[in-house]
Amino acid sequence: MIRMAGFSPTIGRIAGIEIELHWSFLLLLLFVLILSLYTFVLFVILFICVLLHELSHSITSQHYKIKVKKIVLLPIGGISVMDLDTVKPNQEFNIALAGPIASFVIGAAFLLLIPFSPLGMIRQTVVFTAEINLLLGVFNIMPGFPLDGGRVFRAYLERKRQYLEATKITVKVSNIVLALFVIGTIIFAIYATGYSLVSREFLVFYDIFIVMFLYSGSQAELQSAYVKTYASDLRVKDALSRNFLLVDKNSRLPAIYKKILKSRTSILLFRDGPAVKIVRLPQKLPFMHDAKTKELMSRPISQFGTKIAVIKYREKLVKALENMQQENSSIAAVTDGKRIIGVILSQHADSIIALHISRKKGANNAM
Ligand SMILES: [Zn+2]
Repeated sequence: MIRMAGFSPTIGRIAGIEIELHWSFLLLLLFVLILSLYTFVLFVILFICVLLHELSHSITSQHYKIKVKKIVLLPIGGISVMDLDTVKPNQEFNIALAGPIASFVIGAAFLLLIPFSPLGMIRQTVVFTAEINLLLGVFNIMPGFPLDGGRVFRAYLERKRQYLEATKITVKVSNIVLALFVIGTIIFAIYATGYSLVSREFLVFYDIFIVMFLYSGSQAELQSAYVKTYASDLRVKDALSRNFLLVDKNSRLPAIYKKILKSRTSILLFRDGPAVKIVRLPQKLPFMHDAKTKELMSRPISQFGTKIAVIKYREKLVKALENMQQENSSIAAVTDGKRIIGVILSQHADSIIALHISRKKGANNAM
């Protein structure tokens, strides 16, 4: 069954790892299905090859006892969401290298199969599978973030350098890779007259998508290196907000509105068994004496709840935010083990982290 989670539906689970299909892949699959059935088959092959590439990263991680939460499949590769907090440089080196190696091995195997496959559609498919795997291998081993090659390169630099410094150098190399990619695309757009106009424009758009993906990925990597270096001492309690109200799950809307007016907070939480939920008030109430309004007013507040994450106040702030992001939640309830003592708002926490980093950076520069 396909469960929609944002734009990336979960399509299954392998070895305890959730497999998600990125919306761009989904869009592309639908697009090629309109074009032709054979193209669709080729894309399904691409999909399997990307999955095998990602699984080899995951299997290597699990070998080091590093938890893999999920795999998101993109048309140009995949993203394995892992708990990389405790990973050692030599482990990251091997984890990152495992994917391109898998692609190269599969590519080489299909390359050897070409002379033995019957001419026509079967050979065409074997050639495609060989090409696509070699391409996945070459593309992902390029030394730029967020590609595998970038991670391999940084892990190599970390032998003699600090994590942040190694990341900064890799980001510079990423920018060079990016610039070459843009120049290549421009040359292709001008001189590739052999291609039909549609496929040429399609490839150019595809390249633009890749450039944006690479650029934002390398910026995110730099940002997270700063956070990892300078903000790992922050705890959840450092960004705690006490501006919330705990209500009973059986309260009705009129009582809730009174409480909101008194306390001037719009964050209302209630417990529902082991879960903590936030009250999402109805956006627009119909006319006051309307039957529908009366009906809404008589419902218990538990019917307007959305489940939110619960975190401990001693937990690392960065870790808590990461978990919130993975659960697509911008708010979490904070407990001291028993009671709810406050809330964390991701936007508020982000600015506290940014301030903390700039202070520490300033202190470092002054030395
Ligand atoms: Zn990879």
